[in-house]
Amino acid sequence: MTGSKKGWGGLYFIRRTLGWLTRTAPPRSPHDHSHVPYRVAGELLADYTYTATLTADGKEILRWISSSVQQITGYGSTELLRHNGWQSLVHPDDQVVIQQRKYALSQEQTHTCEYRIIARSGEVRWLRDVTRPLREPDQPRKFMLVGAVQDISTTHREKVQYPLGAPRFLALMERAVDGIALIDHKGMIVYASTGVATIFNHPLEEIIGQPVGMIWDPDDPDIGQSELDRLYHVAGTILHTIFRSYRSGGRTRWIEATASNHLDDPNVQAIVINYRDVTYLQDYEEHYRQLALTDELTHLANRRQLYQRGNELLATYAETGDTLGLLLLDVDRFKVINSDLGHDAGDELLIQLAERLRECVEPTAILARQGGDEFTILLPTAHAHRSRELAQRILDQMNQPFILRDQIIYLSMSIGIALSMPATRRFSSLLTEADIAMYSAKTKGGGIRIYEPSLSPAMRDRLVLETDLRVALVTGKLTLYYQPIVEVATSTIIGVEALIRWPHPTRGLLIPSHFLGVAEDAGLLGILDRWVLRQAIAQLAEWWHNGHQIAISINLTDHSLRDPELIFDIEDLITEYDVPADAIIIEITEYTALRDMATTNEVLNGLKQLGVRIALDDFGTGYASLTNLRNLPVEILKLDRTFSAGIGTKAEDEAVVQALLQLGQGLSLTVVVEGVEQPVQQAWLERAGCQLIQGYLLGRPMPPEEAQVLFGTHPITETENDNDVAAGIAETG
Ligand code: C2E
Ligand code: CA
Ligand code: CA
Repeated sequence: MTGSKKGWGGLYFIRRTLGWLTRTAPPRSPHDHSHVPYRVAGELLADYTYTATLTADGKEILRWISSSVQQITGYGSTELLRHNGWQSLVHPDDQVVIQQRKYALSQEQTHTCEYRIIARSGEVRWLRDVTRPLREPDQPRKFMLVGAVQDISTTHREKVQYPLGAPRFLALMERAVDGIALIDHKGMIVYASTGVATIFNHPLEEIIGQPVGMIWDPDDPDIGQSELDRLYHVAGTILHTIFRSYRSGGRTRWIEATASNHLDDPNVQAIVINYRDVTYLQDYEEHYRQLALTDELTHLANRRQLYQRGNELLATYAETGDTLGLLLLDVDRFKVINSDLGHDAGDELLIQLAERLRECVEPTAILARQGGDEFTILLPTAHAHRSRELAQRILDQMNQPFILRDQIIYLSMSIGIALSMPATRRFSSLLTEADIAMYSAKTKGGGIRIYEPSLSPAMRDRLVLETDLRVALVTGKLTLYYQPIVEVATSTIIGVEALIRWPHPTRGLLIPSHFLGVAEDAGLLGILDRWVLRQAIAQLAEWWHNGHQIAISINLTDHSLRDPELIFDIEDLITEYDVPADAIIIEITEYTALRDMATTNEVLNGLKQLGVRIALDDFGTGYASLTNLRNLPVEILKLDRTFSAGIGTKAEDEAVVQALLQLGQGLSLTVVVEGVEQPVQQAWLERAGCQLIQGYLLGRPMPPEEAQVLFGTHPITETENDNDVAAGIAETG
């Protein structure tokens, strides 16, 4: 660096002269005497020198070039000047170097670069060009370039061919992790690098001199004999393969090999094989393959693997005549649990569940998670008895509670079983059968069900019902019946409970238990609740308009009570129909209220602020404790009819009802006893101080016109003074 600086520094004295020359008359002739000092100085340093102008827009105009350029390029200096031509001599691949050089020069930096030119003879020569930019006075973006060029072709060739010298080159080969082997035309290994020995775990001495088969597995199914023949006989053939090597002792290794025929190349005269141990890649591949077939959450097989294995097994069973068993497990009410606990806890529960299932199944079975809360078990060579046994074992396991974040959770399951027939070809049809069986089990309240063809119509039935229900909902074909709620002291109807009915065109009047399950599965509960609300409040408005100041009880599902929008919707309805808010009673079940106290409470409090009253339905069937009751904005308790049923016959039931009535009183809650069918029950309740009763004795659910006729009358007056049971029953008929 210092040397070149010194050399170039020597040129400074001519700077002014050159600058002046270029400004006045561009020095076009190599014979111009004013360049003599420069030329002499330059030629001491280089094979040829030149000056040029670099313009602001990046153009380089050659001004002068020493005549020695002809020896290097074959072109004379006049010729080059005339055509401003030297750049066109630069090898196309090196044009980029010239571009970079221009940039560096415009930054006022001395630049050294190497590029090839194509001489007149066609010969390619390597040049080293050192250029110094000199700024033109008063022209900030214009430079005078002074360049010195050296022909480095000879040194360059040496450099490329032996960058490190032959011995070091060989040493490097030996140290490479990849292996290189040379095979001669007879198929013998003439050279193998250390890498080959490592990859095949075999001493080099025993490899070199051996036939190629030792390190190129001819049995590898990926490569056919014809391809191998080609490799040996056709120059330039390249073969690529990945094969397993069992020679490496211990574990099998995956080896990638590329062989190329250079037998015709005088410098090589061999087939060159490159080896690389790609076992790690195969491990990755296996890992990713596993991932694609595994359920991320539970690490069980996923749906894809299930189908894959299922179809594989069915294909083999088509020949062997074996039976494939499929168990489809569905957690009952999991959706509710999931949204109550939060999804993280729901996930944890699924993991625990998967763990428990894993303990139940034998190793030959394939346990998979279908998604959501659905699990499947593939039972190879199954039969009905064994499948049912396994299902029972699982249900027994489910009887143990799950403990999740200090909470005790009980899960129940419905299990459908399908067994393949010799004619079963597609796994998906087996899955459908298991699905039908599972559904059938679920509608019967859980448990196990084995598929039989007679179940199919029931399933189809359900689907038809679902479609019908959708249509009925949007076309307003559902209707509400109203059941009187009677004040014991005055024997008058103070309210009604709205109960949904579906007058089905072919099946007759359907009660909620016939279609609420379908509505839930179809995700229609939200729409259904909204329809009921509007219908009931519209009816309430009509009655109040007609002078009947009664209250209306409306049943809502969990679904709506988790939806804060509910408050606004009800508020809007109250305004729209102009009804008193406290004439509306929202009935929620104990189960709903306690499931997700926080959210439900928020909605319930919102409703309370509107003035709407809340009733706790089916009270006594769940686990509502006193504390829970205090914390809920509930004003009314509805005692489930399972308690009233024992009144008059079961002392224990009477004791419970008595206690619950007192509890209600103690908490200043209004108690409604449901399911009053017998006059004895009614009489007993009156004595026990019960305020409100509801039941067939006082009126069945009925259409609104019929209910309205009863308002203002005393439906129980006659039975009040008459203890004759038969008379009471006759009254309700
Ligand atoms: P629930 O809220 O406990 O309603 C009382 C149920 O008991 C009604 O059955 C009613 O017909 C019946 N019942 C009333 N008195 C007697 C009696 O003396 N003896 C007997 N054995 N039964 C009596 P229903 O109408 O079949 O309704 C069943 C359930 O369906 C209701 O139980 C309620 O949970 C639900 N439900 C009814 N209507 C609606 C609705 O509009 N929306 C929602 N979300 N659920 C509804
Ligand atoms: Ca109710
Ligand atoms: Ca009830």
